[in-house]
Amino acid sequence: KSERPSVIIVGAGISGISAAVALARAGVHDVLILEATDSVGGRIHRKRFAGHQIEVGANWIQGVHGEKMNPIWQMAEKLHLKTFFSDYSNISSNTYSQSGVLYERSVVEQALKVSEKVVEDGGIYSHSLPSDGHEDISILGFQRIKKHAPATPLEMAVDYYTNDYESAEPPRVTSLQGTLPIRTFTDFGEDDYFVADERGYESLVHHLVNQSLDTDSIKLNQVVRSINQSRNGVTVTTENGRHYRADYVMVSVSIGVLQTDSIKFHPQLPQSKFSAICQLDMAVFTKIFLKFPYKFWPDRNKTEFFLYASERRGYYTIWQELEKELPGANVLLVVVTDDEAKRIELQPDESTKAEAMQVLKNMFGKKIPEATDIFVTRWWTNRFFRGSFSNWPIGLHSHDFNRIKEPFGRIFFTGEHTSRLYNGYVHGAYLAGVDSANKLVQRIKKMERAKS
Ligand code: FAD
Repeated sequence: KSERPSVIIVGAGISGISAAVALARAGVHDVLILEATDSVGGRIHRKRFAGHQIEVGANWIQGVHGEKMNPIWQMAEKLHLKTFFSDYSNISSNTYSQSGVLYERSVVEQALKVSEKVVEDGGIYSHSLPSDGHEDISILGFQRIKKHAPATPLEMAVDYYTNDYESAEPPRVTSLQGTLPIRTFTDFGEDDYFVADERGYESLVHHLVNQSLDTDSIKLNQVVRSINQSRNGVTVTTENGRHYRADYVMVSVSIGVLQTDSIKFHPQLPQSKFSAICQLDMAVFTKIFLKFPYKFWPDRNKTEFFLYASERRGYYTIWQELEKELPGANVLLVVVTDDEAKRIELQPDESTKAEAMQVLKNMFGKKIPEATDIFVTRWWTNRFFRGSFSNWPIGLHSHDFNRIKEPFGRIFFTGEHTSRLYNGYVHGAYLAGVDSANKLVQRIKKMERAKS
């Protein structure tokens, strides 16, 4: 192995690791991966919670059973990862008003049908727009065109479930053209599978590492602070004052991290690139796990998912019981996003528990048992992530999006936020890693040809 690695990859999330694997497959073995935290996997991360294994980051393999094979599903099958089909079809039987009244199934079904039709029509409308994005509108704008104005608690809950649950931002913010049709589902299939495996979702990332990488090519607890490039190469400096030299760097940190100055580039990134980086949103999707001494929610109508239709949009709206995944554990998962998620990240868990308990009491009555344990994910306040995943907002054009992943001299970029078709997803991050690695290999070959 040469003293000087050819390529340094910043970040050992799935995109950084898949880039390293693709480089190795193309014959570029001199790769060093610098990771800020003490583990690989990044936003794919498991944790012990009250004696159970939970996923604090990505949980689902999204886009399964379609025309094309989702590469993450392929890997999961190979590893016999334990996954569970998420059956959303029962939601219409399990939607509660703020006063605990169960809505009639047909009423919820109708609301869902209307909301999903607008999304479907949005996908068709999106195709009819000029590709430069100058006539793009927000999802909310399109809802107005369709005279769809969710205003009642039920309509807002259904609107939240149809839109925010996927993109983690409200229809006012999200771009129609950038997000519809959702290519993950049109390409790979409509099904979602929830990963609940003792080895964790992250075992997919470990598998990639074990397959093609040297374990000493990954250095953990190395927080990159600056990247200096000159005509001859690149120097990467870490928080603990270490310098690493290489021919090229591949930066895989999240768009949220790139928006801050936690990594300084010398020379600075071009203004047009940095402004494109700042235009893409880092959405916040917060998962709250609650454990109870016994199951109190009803068994009828397959209760896997249930909705709470609050007058406050997005207030503890989407609940999931994990009876299939963690039998007998009596664990519920509730998801909050955007401003509500940020508010909850900042408050003590005790306050969040009290709020969630009140919502559950509103749905199921005052006599339910107190939660014994709570875990609230905090990706937004974590300086190595600054949020959960990217979301394409109105006002970001295609050429700006392309600028985000464009190499700057010897510095290449990857990460879920560079995937044009599947940004925000695990498979997007994985495929982006392969794509950026291929671009770098082309550059290396070009330079070699020029030398010889
Ligand atoms: P990351 O995983 O963020 O990897 C980047 C790495 O860079 C990290 O390990 C980080 O520690 C490191 N880093 C940061 N700063 C520095 C620094 N200064 N120096 C060195 N290293 C640094 N996707 C799905 O497909 N399905 C889901 O169900 C799903 N749910 C999600 C739920 C949550 C709560 C979250 C947070 C994400 C979810 N996602 C989901 C999205 C998915 O997890 C991400 O798209 C994907 O894991 C991103 O991988 P990445 O390699 O691009 O980035």
